[in-house]
Amino acid sequence: MRRAALAVASTATLICASLGSPALSAPADPPSPALQQETSDAVDVVNEFWEIHWSDHFTQSYQQPALFGSSGFYEAESSRLPTCDGELLGDDPQEKYNAFYCPDEDFLAWSVDFMDLGFNMVGDSWVYLITAHEWGHAIQARLDVSLVDTAEELQADCLAGATLQGATEDGTLTWEEGDTDEVVSALQKLGDTTPWTHPEDHGDVSERINAFDMGVQGGVDSCVT
Ligand SMILES: [Zn+2]
Repeated sequence: MRRAALAVASTATLICASLGSPALSAPADPPSPALQQETSDAVDVVNEFWEIHWSDHFTQSYQQPALFGSSGFYEAESSRLPTCDGELLGDDPQEKYNAFYCPDEDFLAWSVDFMDLGFNMVGDSWVYLITAHEWGHAIQARLDVSLVDTAEELQADCLAGATLQGATEDGTLTWEEGDTDEVVSALQKLGDTTPWTHPEDHGDVSERINAFDMGVQGGVDSCVT
């Protein structure tokens, strides 16, 4: 499957399972007001970064991707799951309890449970990381294929690092004490157990951290060359 952006394929399930997976049996709830606000803020920050900086790196003009249901959230146990190019999101929990980008319809979506779990376990940096990573896939979809790395997931991590660091330099994002640790903790939860070998792999923990850090240190250009 190449729904490019199953951000955290292997781990969402692990996280759920390790917590006794309340989301898998309980009725779905809408996102909490705090999570809604944090996600809305993250979307604004990430989108503003690309609005400002797209033309620093690429030709043509930036177009904002859409968000499923306007906020991006969907409830994994509801009857209103996102479809991508006519294909319903699969029953596989790794797909349902996750975040993704739909290249055919150019929208981002994330399950309430997936965002909520990371938000509670890791902190608000989780929300920013997921948003910036998925946005990275939308950016990839806007690029000439020659600029899209075979390791698409690691490139999306790199773009996420470039985005969050760039927004910080722009002054649209402030890193609070502990945020760096939160990002590392998030990537530890999201890393594959094995190193990257295949385009659908996300890379192991050190690969993901290195990719994110490359974007932080070198900016967008370091991710696309
Ligand atoms: Zn991804």
